[in-house]
Amino acid sequence: MSRKYLIAGNWKMNKTATEAVDLIEEVKSLVGNQSSVQVCVCPSFTSLAKASELVEESQLLLGAQDMNAESSGAFTGEISAEMLRDLYVSFVILGHSERRQFFGETNHSVNKKILAAVENNLKPIYCIGETLEERETEKTLDVVGSQVREGLESFPSQSIENLVLAYEPVWAIGTGKTATDEMAQEVHAYIRKVLTDIFGESSASKIRILYGGSMKPENAAGLLAQEDVDGGLIGGASLTARAFSGIVEAALNA
Ligand code: PEP
Repeated sequence: MSRKYLIAGNWKMNKTATEAVDLIEEVKSLVGNQSSVQVCVCPSFTSLAKASELVEESQLLLGAQDMNAESSGAFTGEISAEMLRDLYVSFVILGHSERRQFFGETNHSVNKKILAAVENNLKPIYCIGETLEERETEKTLDVVGSQVREGLESFPSQSIENLVLAYEPVWAIGTGKTATDEMAQEVHAYIRKVLTDIFGESSASKIRILYGGSMKPENAAGLLAQEDVDGGLIGGASLTARAFSGIVEAALNA
């Protein structure tokens, strides 16, 4: 089963809308004309309207960093799936460890968002991963297995091709520490096994599992060469066009 690589940039709370224009233009000129690797930028909500105009007529895709599970109503400050679709957003990052850590998100609350996203034809990038303490106490596979099962409860099998997972060991995010190629492959293979238990082999083989955690041009090739690593979710290195496109180049050459 050949899965197309996806390289997604999670800009987090960085870049004004004005700065986003410059970065997207640069990324577009470097890697925006090819379609062998899917490339997605996920700026802040405030940049999405402008970004959607800029990515039009290029191969770049647009993603958001979160959304509310409800479709509309009295949820001050929140953004719905429909609002994202209206701006031609394709992907939405859900359950990022920073949202779990700072905003109290759980597998259960993220599950509601995932179901609302696919109902609205958005492709969720569902983030999972263990903390340092969990790794050191050999709980990694248990933690990740529960995140997959609980976060994907009732996921509709007809939407399977819209589902993307991102394995992001929490201890590797923004720290400069990366999982070794072997560590990443071990967990990715386990995630695919859990997905096979839930959805069956044929469906599980279609789901892309990205690696995230200090991925950069220097370590991307080794990680992307692993059988079950289907791309990257990139934080810090997505904030400069050269580093981000260096990772895309690694995927193009993988
Ligand atoms: C992330 O936050 O999704 C991430 C992978 O960050 P970084 O690349 O900076 O570790």
